[in-house]
Amino acid sequence: MIGDDTALTDEERQYVSNTVDVLENEVFVGDLGRDHFRDLDENEESRSDWSEYLRRMGERDLLGIAVPEEGGGPGGSFVETVLAEQALGYCGTIVHACQASLTQHIGHTMYEHGNAHIRETYLEPMLEGELIVSQAYTDPGSGTDLARANTTAEKVGDEWVVDGEKRFIDFGQYGDLYFLPARTSGTDGDREGVSLFVIDGDADGIEILEDQSNWHGFRGTGAAWMAFDGVTVPAENLVGEEGGAWPYITDELNLEHLTVARYCLGASEKALEIASNYTANREVNEQAVSEYQAVNHAVAEMATELDAAYLLNTRAARMLDADGISAGRMEGAMAKWFGNDLAHEIADTCIQIVGGIATTESYPIERTQRDVRAGRFLGGASEVMKSVVQHYAYRSLADETFNPDYVGNELEESLWNEERA
Ligand SMILES: Cc1cc2nc3c(=O)[nH]c(=O)nc-3n(C[C@H](O)[C@H](O)[C@H](O)COP(=O)(O)OP(=O)(O)OC[C@H]3O[C@@H](n4cnc5c(N)ncnc54)[C@H](O)[C@@H]3O)c2cc1C
Repeated sequence: MIGDDTALTDEERQYVSNTVDVLENEVFVGDLGRDHFRDLDENEESRSDWSEYLRRMGERDLLGIAVPEEGGGPGGSFVETVLAEQALGYCGTIVHACQASLTQHIGHTMYEHGNAHIRETYLEPMLEGELIVSQAYTDPGSGTDLARANTTAEKVGDEWVVDGEKRFIDFGQYGDLYFLPARTSGTDGDREGVSLFVIDGDADGIEILEDQSNWHGFRGTGAAWMAFDGVTVPAENLVGEEGGAWPYITDELNLEHLTVARYCLGASEKALEIASNYTANREVNEQAVSEYQAVNHAVAEMATELDAAYLLNTRAARMLDADGISAGRMEGAMAKWFGNDLAHEIADTCIQIVGGIATTESYPIERTQRDVRAGRFLGGASEVMKSVVQHYAYRSLADETFNPDYVGNELEESLWNEERA
């Protein structure tokens, strides 16, 4: 945050600076340092790099932060979760933050709804950084509209048989486990009848149909279009109630909205920091670029809006801490669309005021701009978030004393507000 963050307690402020310190001095060092960032962007990453990254993160209690200790997690708060994701966006790359984020929200779903087998076999090792998790939600035929996914799971004896395709799956090529929703009953579009499964990465029938990692941003995750063709899943790998996963998924997304927005904002803060330093030191027409009002007002707007986005995000996370992961749907949706649209706008404006050199690898701004782009629809498109906000906002703004007869008849005697009569 650029201004004084009075929305955080002293301990929480300390948590952010400690996390930045740990990430800079213990995680993103040596073989996970700058060359590794470049390798990721060039898709020359390796499975061992991701394993090492997760091992370091697990050792430092940065995975599944809000999962209680009895579930193998650090037992932190949702506010700490979003602060850690902000620090990751700031110190690492969006894809580092994304992998950690998967452990935050999937970890919480596994803890809340997973049985003892799921907790012991997958959740605990995942939070120790021993397993790479992949979230296989998006079907080729339906991304935003998850209830229309065509992937199915059929009970055969004691096992489930999963059939379908998933695409854009980060860590698809490296996953030790896939967290995957499938229809087990009901019809297309029903919210009832969707079940969640944990699928072992080495199960027969999992195939990479296309390497998708050479896309606009988010490089290095080993993203893939995948087939799950007759994949056998043990009954004990069903998460929670058969057919009852819809609320688990929407709760998980409620947290994911905050983590995705927060790590993109953290990355945009780094871009803003670079751009303000650069423009203060770059001269054009014998004056620093930062002395042009068009430029310094842009920086003023970005600093103000960034603080606003952090505050919105912290408020929503605090609501989850107070009332559970389902809380603050409207506030979370506000934080998501505002934060993700802003992060992209900041990265783009930073390129503009820095100029040509910002489009090269000399500074990490152009990578940030590519990486934050997907945040505007990943985990919940901005348009969908605004639909959520308007739903609650109209209810919250409804005034029973508003006289509907006044609308269009404003010249008449009656008043728009009955209370004023
Ligand atoms: C970099 C990246 C990483 C990803 N990682 C993963 C991953 O790890 N796991 C995974 O499962 N998926 C992943 N995805 C997929 C991502 O979640 C989907 O792209 C996203 O959910 C949108 O789905 P879609 O692309 O099918 O777009 P569609 O659902 O077809 O939507 C297209 C557009 O329509 C508009 N729209 C949709 N609904 C509405 C509405 N109600 N009102 C107004 N406008 C609307 C929005 O502008 C939206 O962007 C990733 C995608 C990218 C680009």
